[in-house]
Order: sequence, then C-alpha cells, then structure tokens
Amino acid sequence: MVDLIPSSETVMQILKRTGAFREGHFVYPNGKHSPHYFQMPLAFRYYDTARVLAVALSRKFRVDRDISSQLPKVSIISPSSGGIPVAFGVRDALSAEQIYWAEQDGDKRRFRQYINKGEVNPCIMVDDIIRSGHAIEETDALVKELGAPVIGCGAIVRFTSATDKLDAVPIRSLVDFDAQMYDEGEQCADCVNGAPIEHVRF
Ligand SMILES: [Zn+2]
Repeated sequence: MVDLIPSSETVMQILKRTGAFREGHFVYPNGKHSPHYFQMPLAFRYYDTARVLAVALSRKFRVDRDISSQLPKVSIISPSSGGIPVAFGVRDALSAEQIYWAEQDGDKRRFRQYINKGEVNPCIMVDDIIRSGHAIEETDALVKELGAPVIGCGAIVRFTSATDKLDAVPIRSLVDFDAQMYDEGEQCADCVNGAPIEHVRF
C-alpha cells in the first residue's frame, strides 16, 4: 500500500502543472522575499488532481494501525478554508464519519457555533500546506477544548522550517519543502537581478 503513495517529485510535478507551485520573485505579507510560492487551491480546482493528492495523503494515515483501528469513528479536521477540499478527499478515502473545519474570524480561529464538547470523534487534522505550523497548533488547541484527541496530522506540503510533530503525533506530508525566505536586498538573488516583484496575500 505504501508503494501507491506518489513520490514527492511526482507530487511537485502535479503542483507545477496545475499552477499551485509557482516560481518567480514573491514578497510575503511579512516582508520576506522568496523565489517560489504555493497557491494550493489551484491544484484542488481539478477534481482528478484533488483526488490523487487526497487519496495519497489518506494512505499515510491508513498505514498507521492506531488510526486505521479507529475508523470510521474519526473526524477529519481542516484548520483553514484551504484545507477543506483536502479534508473532504481524505474523509472519502478513509470513510471517516465526520468533517469539521476552522475559519479565521477576525483575529481568532474558530469552529462554527453549536459544535459541542463530546461530539467530535478522535481527529485527523489535514491542511493543504503547513508553512509556519501556527494554523494546526491553534486548531489543535480548539480540538482539545472540544475534548477530542488528535490521532493524526498531515498536509500535502510541509515547509521543513515548520514543526514535524504535534505533541507526539508525527506530521505526515507528501512533500517536505525547503522554503527559501530572504530579507529584501542583497540576500535575495532576484532583488540583485532587478526581477519585478509579485506581492502575495498569504
Ligand atoms: Zn527580492
């Protein structure tokens, strides 16, 4: 079953082909410059691509006996809107019972109202991309408030600068990406070359 998980090279090819992985001279909202940018929903706009990625990620969970033994009484949880299609795809592949997603509400991340303590199954958190890891850490705290244990966590892409564990739970990803981030100016090769800048929102 592990053999059916596409290599990170194959996944990167899919992300490139769909426009989800972009190369250029990007400036993030925090002012950092980077020669690459991931706009993951572009890969999830195509049903076939979305399915390949979500099924691949689901296999990383299914091989874990502690997780597979708890199916289908599991909830798949997305920390953000970008993770919602991932959550639906992984749910489908694992036949998990529940799906939840958190949203950014002003400066707070929360679940929708009227989700009560005790209703949430043991959960697998999935996102499209883990850059800093803040989103999954904040969602982990929300899930704990609802009394549910986190039994799995993963994303299509994880920056290697982000954590690879959530407490004792390993973070599984299809691609571990070594993101290059620079301050403006001499550090950034694209600045030195005078390449035009593209501002990205998040
Ligand atoms: Zn630059």
